[in-house]
This record gives sequence, C-alpha cells and structure tokens, in this order.
Amino acid sequence: MKITIHRGINQIGGCITEIATANKRILIDLGQNLPDNKGIVEDNLANSPTIETLTNGIDAIFYTHYHGDHIGLFHYVPDAIPQYIGATAKQVTICKHKQLSRLHSRKERSELELSKLEKMRTFVPAQQITDIEGFTITPFFVSHSACDSFMFLIEAEGKRILHTGDFRDHGYLGKGLLPTIEKYIIKEKVDILISEGTMLSRLDERVQHEKELRKKVIEVMKRYKNVFVMCSSTDLERLATFHSAHNHVEKRPFVCDDFQQDVLKIFTETAGTKTDLFNFDKIYSFRPTNKKLVAYMKDRGFCMLVRATKKFDKWLDVLLPQLDSQETVLIYSMWTEYVNSDNVKHAKDDYLKFVGRFPAIEKIHTSGHASAEALANVCNLVNPVAAIIPIHSEHADHFEKLDISEELKSKIVTESTVIQDIEIKINATKYEDEGKELAEEYEKKMTDNFKRRMNFFAIPKKV
Ligand SMILES: [Zn+2]
Ligand SMILES: [Zn+2]
Repeated sequence: MKITIHRGINQIGGCITEIATANKRILIDLGQNLPDNKGIVEDNLANSPTIETLTNGIDAIFYTHYHGDHIGLFHYVPDAIPQYIGATAKQVTICKHKQLSRLHSRKERSELELSKLEKMRTFVPAQQITDIEGFTITPFFVSHSACDSFMFLIEAEGKRILHTGDFRDHGYLGKGLLPTIEKYIIKEKVDILISEGTMLSRLDERVQHEKELRKKVIEVMKRYKNVFVMCSSTDLERLATFHSAHNHVEKRPFVCDDFQQDVLKIFTETAGTKTDLFNFDKIYSFRPTNKKLVAYMKDRGFCMLVRATKKFDKWLDVLLPQLDSQETVLIYSMWTEYVNSDNVKHAKDDYLKFVGRFPAIEKIHTSGHASAEALANVCNLVNPVAAIIPIHSEHADHFEKLDISEELKSKIVTESTVIQDIEIKINATKYEDEGKELAEEYEKKMTDNFKRRMNFFAIPKKV
C-alpha cells in the first residue's frame, strides 16, 4: 500500500490524499488552495492538464465535505472518474453553484461545474462503499462548519486507515465523535490515522461550544432590536445557533435572501426531523420593495443574515437609514482575523468595509476545527499501530505537543518513509512543479476567450 499526501502537510487547505493498492488508486479530497485576503487563489494545480495528469489512473475521488479547500478542483476532473460526496453536501453545493451562476462573468464556468456536480455519486453515512475493487470505504458523520461532513475509514490490503477530514467536537453534532470511533472504527486495529491539525498553530486557543455561542447570541438579541448576522451561509450548526437563539427571544422576523432561504430549506428537509434545532421554519426572504416586510421589521425588530456583497450593500442603503443606530448591531460570526485591520495577512478589505457600516459590532464565533484536546482524544482512542499523519496544518510538527503518549508521538510522520509495508510519500511536489509549467504553457496557448471559459479561478468563499 502507498499513501501519498500530495498537499496539506504544511498548509491549511488544498488537501489531496492518495491511497493506492497494487491495483487501484483513490483520492480523498481534491482541494484548492485557499484564497488570499484579496480573494485571489494561487494554485499551480488549478488547471485541466495538471488535474488530468494527477488523476490519471485514479479510480475514484471521495470528498469529506464541500469546502473549497477540499472539493475546489472537482470541475477539472475527467468525467470517467467517479466522484463521491454526501447527499446533502451535493444538494448544498449545487445550490451554491446555481447562485454563483447568476454572475454573468461565471455563466459558462458555472454550467460546467453544475454538470460535473450533477454527476457526482452520493454515499450513505456508515454504509460501506465497495465499488472500488479491493477497497472498503465507510463514511462517518462529523461535526464541522460545513453540513454533511465526513471522516472515512478506508480498508484495503488488510490495512485500516482513518482519514478524519475537517472535524471538531464542540458543535451540536460533535458529541457523536468519540462514540462513533469507539463503536465502528476501533473494533479492529487502525494502522494509520490521517488527521486534520488546523488548530496546531493555535494550541492555547480555548474553543467555545456552539451552545455557549447560543447563550451569548441570546444576550445580544435581548439588548438590540435590529440584529444583523454575518456568518457562513452553509454552516448548518452556526445557522442553527442563530435561528434557535432568535426563536428564544421575543417574536420578530428571521430574514435572509433567497439563496440563504434555499440552503436553510435543504437543511430543514435533510436534518430537521432529527432535532428541532435544524428545523428552520418561518424564514422571510427580503426584498427592499416588500413594504409590508420592511414595516414589520421596523416595528418588531429582526434577525437578518447578511453577507459582504454588493446586493447586501444596496439593501443596507435602504435599511440602515430607517433604523435607530442605538438599537442596531452586527453580530460578526466568522474568523476574527478576516476583520482584524492590524493584520494585513488575513484581513479582507471587503469584509472590513462591510462590517464598518454598522453602528455596533459583536464578535461571536468558534472554530470549525478540532481543539488540541479533541485531537489528542481522537489520537489516544484510535491509537494507530503504524503512523499518525497530520494534514491541513501550518504546524504539523506541533502534533507532538498534544497530550498523547510518547509512543504515539514517535509515530507522527511528516516526511516520506516506509512503515510496516506502507509507503508514505509526503508533499509529492511533482504535480506542483509540473503544474506550474503546464499552467504557464496552457496560459500561452489559450485564447483569451477560451481562458475565460476554461481557466477557472477560485470559487469565492462567500456567495
Ligand atoms: Zn479545510
Ligand atoms: Zn472545512
């Protein structure tokens, strides 16, 4: 068996892991590098020839979740290679891309993306996928800032590998993490644990549970009549935090745009029956021309989900002058560094400008990623016999700072090696280098028009 970490050992995002037996090869995630603070993506792999080369001979691709740093290169994959994703994740991604397709400049790109997405195969949580000869792949639900996120148990050639994807234990769905591992994964030995390590560079950060956030949101909602909320439009658990906090306070409308309403509808239809928390009922879709709704909002106050886009800017032009600034607040519920004007590395100009429009800001947020404690718990419980490979981290080497045994620390792999018949290849820069050349060559060859159609850039994180 051979495991190749194409990307992700020394960076957050752009995740690509390959697992190969003597006869078959699969990929877990095919992510794009994250955009910089100007929204620009630098990614040598983000072009058709490189992805065609990288996926040549690949039998299937399995996506842990729909964030661009895990799925972002899917549209370059030739149709002959089956791509798998969770059923709800597929619906949400299609909904997001339909929204993106409304941008005139993205029309053709979106058409291709949507046709690839429609063809994606879906899997059922906890049900084995045996479509690839010699492989048994089982997806298990995890809590993350994307809905319908999974870790994968991959069994082949007598080896068992657990790939965690992005996960955490401090969301509503996080309580299932350790029991799932206990019940389904460690019934037999696990050879290799491939784990995300996003928080390794922020080891001291205390993470709050979504429940704690909900309490804070309720306090703010009681203090302010007009509550705007800026959070990820596809983060099921965070949206549940706001919606259920909203339901807890006095009766006033919960407002968003059509796209967000569509996403909430998918969440309600797929998760709403399991718990009331994910039942997003009584949602109003905003139109500045809907005088009745605007009057209702002015009278009772509201909770309105907003994003830093031109459309919301225009809506704020209409709304903000009509509201008492003393009674109006924006709850900013995303990574704080995006709006930290002292840190040019991460601060996003459009976010800064947008949040600057509100008379008051409250920051209420918690990470979508595993805390140091959660990482240690998973490592200790899985207790892999051969290796731990940290990915999705700027500080993979910090894995040894976790509260795990010396024996486990000795199993951390950050460089290429062979352990118990398993060849582990780290950071195979081959495609990065080749990709760079191919991208340049490609750039020269293509006409501007063709480039516009085929040479895709990053999918903006916010829609
Ligand atoms: Zn990620
Ligand atoms: Zn993610």
